[in-house]
Amino acid sequence: MNIIETNLKFKNSMTNRSTTKRIILHHAEASKCTAEDIHRWHLNNGWAGAGYHFLVRKDGSVYRLRPENKVGAHAQGANSNSIGICFEGAYMTETMPQAQIDAGKELVAYLKEKYDISKVQAHRDVCSTSCPGKNFPFEEIAGTKASNIPVNTTPKPAPAQTPKLSGNDWVRRLQKECNAQGFSRQVVDSIPGKNTLAGCPTCRRGARGNITRLIQERLNGLGYNCGKVDSIFGSRTENAVKTLQKVHGLTIDGIVGQKTWRILLGM
Ligand SMILES: [Zn+2]
Repeated sequence: MNIIETNLKFKNSMTNRSTTKRIILHHAEASKCTAEDIHRWHLNNGWAGAGYHFLVRKDGSVYRLRPENKVGAHAQGANSNSIGICFEGAYMTETMPQAQIDAGKELVAYLKEKYDISKVQAHRDVCSTSCPGKNFPFEEIAGTKASNIPVNTTPKPAPAQTPKLSGNDWVRRLQKECNAQGFSRQVVDSIPGKNTLAGCPTCRRGARGNITRLIQERLNGLGYNCGKVDSIFGSRTENAVKTLQKVHGLTIDGIVGQKTWRILLGM
């Protein structure tokens, strides 16, 4: 990680940060700015100096601003346990250059490892602000983008019994959908009972629609990773059903029939 050291002169009013739990991302809201610019702006606010700890410029260079071990001044109410990173640019309207995205990703990954933390937030997550802008590629830089998650994740070991679902919104939506599609005429009460089970249609590969979507949601919720919830019963959904069936000692056919529904319904 190449961090360019700066010679910014801070006032002596900064305190040491006792704990580092998260990283908070900002944009400068300025299309072009240097480390010195930010330092000057923040001195003019009456602060000790630049409030962020790092600046990532559009060309991918990374500058140190406030000393890393000092409490920053970048996100009111969240400064005491965070590191602030500012990205040159105005990302309500601009598009971030790839070099800056790459440098931001590297810096965030470096800090996560250094402090053994995983929490990354946008300024707007902690304060009433639009910072760092709607075009800011937050997930990519924070390292939470879905494409970074390996596809072949092993399903979490399933509990021997699925949790009881009374009062659950998923059950309510399933009941409503089974009624709407004419599979049942049951009371929509969020409680999985024998009418709910009887009203669940057999679903298999090739099915699509809201009931498939509910099956996918439930499989993912139980740790049987069926990938994207897209309402299409494809091979990943089928494999997730097979895993569930295997764990629960059912016939492994990938078809959601009454016995499989019983498990999904936690009955
Ligand atoms: Zn901000």
